[in-house]
Amino acid sequence: MEDCIFCKIADGRIPAALVYENDLTLAFEDIHPMAPVHVIVIPKKHIPRLLDLGREDRQIWDALVDAVQEVSRIKGVDEKGFRMVINCNDEGGQVVYHLHVHVLGGRKLDDELG
Ligand code: 5GP
Ligand code: ZN
Repeated sequence: MEDCIFCKIADGRIPAALVYENDLTLAFEDIHPMAPVHVIVIPKKHIPRLLDLGREDRQIWDALVDAVQEVSRIKGVDEKGFRMVINCNDEGGQVVYHLHVHVLGGRKLDDELG
């Protein structure tokens, strides 16, 4: 997708601080971190929203979960704990319309989600 900011990160047109990569996903530091650990995990394929993830994309979902687990270990929050968040559509707080998972941790997170 020409104008998608996360596609641009995925193909190197925009720099990002990479944390982890596997065949189907990429993880990088959020540019405006909301917690000491705030990593964004994306599929390399342009899928706009969680609602657009089809049955044929189950391998991508598995790869995203693998990446979140790896990121939690790499960032050292696997034992103390972390939160995995996906925002969907306007009221869900989605701003970038390329499916992504937030991995948040490094402090006690509030009860409020997101
Ligand atoms: P959303 O609100 O769509 O769930 O989250 C989008 C996230 O992407 C935000 O936390 C925002 O800080 C992050 N973000 C937006 N643009 C960029 C960028 O160019 N680089 C990086 N690393 N993060 C970005
Ligand atoms: Zn995209």
